[in-house]
Formats: sequence, structure tokens, C-alpha cells
Amino acid sequence: MGKVDLKTLDFQEMKAEMAKIGEKPFRAGQIYQWIHQKLADSPNEMTNLSKNLRDTLTEHYDCTCLSVAEVLTSQIDGTQKYLFELKDQNVIESVLMRYKHGNSVCISSQVGCKMGCRFCASTIGGWTRNLTAAEMLDQIYRIQKLSGERVSNVVVMGTGEPLDNYDNILKFFQMLTDEHGLNISQRNITVSTCGIVPRMKQLADEQLQITLALSLHASNQAKRLELMPISNKYSLDEVIDACKYYFEKTGRRITFEYSLVGGVNDKKEDADELAALVKPLNCHVNLIPVNPIKERDYVQSQKKVIDNFKNKLEKCGINVTIRREMGRDINGACGQLRRSYMEKV
Ligand code: SF4
Repeated sequence: MGKVDLKTLDFQEMKAEMAKIGEKPFRAGQIYQWIHQKLADSPNEMTNLSKNLRDTLTEHYDCTCLSVAEVLTSQIDGTQKYLFELKDQNVIESVLMRYKHGNSVCISSQVGCKMGCRFCASTIGGWTRNLTAAEMLDQIYRIQKLSGERVSNVVVMGTGEPLDNYDNILKFFQMLTDEHGLNISQRNITVSTCGIVPRMKQLADEQLQITLALSLHASNQAKRLELMPISNKYSLDEVIDACKYYFEKTGRRITFEYSLVGGVNDKKEDADELAALVKPLNCHVNLIPVNPIKERDYVQSQKKVIDNFKNKLEKCGINVTIRREMGRDINGACGQLRRSYMEKV
């Protein structure tokens, strides 16, 4: 059996682990604080522990620590893309975006993705494995340490379908919001899903204050099927019902992500149909000019088409924004940097 990873233990588990090795309960608090507040990478840094305890932790435990494979900085807006190497040599991608209201980090939840959305680079090589809670947390910790800047918002929208890694993502939320750790507010966390209905309902029942962002991308079932194979399993009607359920249970407004693909889902009729679909919900629509990837022939909608689409939704009383394209000059699309890195090595 492998060693226990200290970074993946929540506060209660840390207490239980310390009890197991005969240490006093307050040691758990100290170690948890070193790892999750002071962002220590190894027991050797935990200077208020006895030498004996530090040696025991070093010898018998792991502590997840991602290593940086590459960092790219956008010359346009300062966005930074990080490629991290995991212990098993897989690589994952995370992004730091700087906004007026604070820094936001977009993290990956899996190595690759099995969902097969047609416009997405992350799924082209398939799915390799789920990330642990520690591997998700450490993307944020590492970026905070490397940039020297505090992270205030976290979005789980990088590579992977977060709700396909449910137990780990839930533990990640719990640890990220723990007062003994970074203590990020639930309201500052957004999780995306392509529409795994049973998990959306399960998450609703947890009654967290996390924002749910549904990757919608089409206004009817036939068109969604063309873009997102998950629609074979869960129909658009079922997904919309799950969104309503999430709002009822949590009171959190749903965000609909809608990638505009030139000539595919950006026509006037699409906007009308989308407005009718989402109008009954308390929601926000985020329009995303699709980032072209070389493996697919999708093109971005023209600026005028995007503006018209937005205006049409607004006239129907829908709350809508166009997502700013962050880091376009550094392989802006999700999964693109990881793919180009893997092609090089
Ligand atoms: S958009 Fe998200 S769910 Fe769809 S393939 Fe890409 S990473 Fe997976």
C-alpha cells in the first residue's frame, strides 16, 4: 500500500491520523495550518514540530507537490497558463486570470476527459485518471506561491468533467473553504458541468453556495447532440430540470455557458430559442466566442454576429455577458497548451 498523502487529509482525518501515531490533537491543527495556510511543501518546513515528528512525517507520509513544467504569460492581458507535472508524470493545465475584483484561478479536475465535447481540446486524447483533492488544491497553492498573489476566486472549468470525479471534488470544496485552510468563500467558487444529471442533483442536495455553470452550447436537443455526446445519456430537458432543482435547493443563480461557433449555433433563430429555453430560470448566460483548435474545423463567430446574439437575448430580458478572451496569445482554449506540450515531448 502507498503512503498516506498528508495534503489529501481533511481536518478531521488529520486529527485521526495524528491519534493513530500517538500525537496530541493540537499537532493536527499545526500540520494542517502549515500545509493549507502557510503552503508548506514538506514536513521539514514545519518548524514548530519536534524533529522526531518531522522525521516520522517525512519517512512515512507523502505530501503532494506539483512541479512546474511550463509557465506562459499573455502579452495581451497578463493571464498566466501553468503546466504542472504530477508524480506519475502526467501533465495538467491551470490558468491565473487577474481581474479588478481579484485573482481567479481555473483548475483541472481530471487528466484528460471522457466527455467528448466536439469543440474541446481537452478530450482529444481521452481520459487518463481523476485528480485527487490534493492535486486540485495544489494547483491553487502553487500558483499563489509562484505569483506571490492571493487567489480569491476559483473556477473548476479546466480539463475534465468535475462531476465525473464527484467524491474528490466535494472533498476539494470542503478543504478549500475550511477556516483552517485558505478559507475561500463558497460563493467565490464556480464548478462547471456538461450535464451529468444525477450528480447535479446530488450536488444540489449538498446545499452548498457554489455557483453551478452548465455548459449548454445549444438551444435544442438535436443541436446539442451534435456538439456534446453526453446528450445521448441526459436530454436537454432533463438537464434544464436539474438546473431548476439546483436553484431551488441552493438559491444560487445558474450560469449557462454558451460557446458561439460560427455558422453552427449563432443564428438569430438560435438566440430566440435559447432565450425561450432559459427565460423561466433565474440565470445568467455567458457567451464564449469559441477558441478555434487545430484538430477541429470550427470557426469563431464574427464580432457583429456575437453582438447581435447578445442584443437579442438582452431584448428578451436575459442577463447576458460576453466572456473576455483571456490569454488568447498563449493557447487560450482549455486543454490546448497541454496538447501542444505533449506533442513536443
Ligand atoms: S468541455 Fe469540459 S466536459 Fe466537455 S470535453 Fe472539454 S473538458 Fe470535458
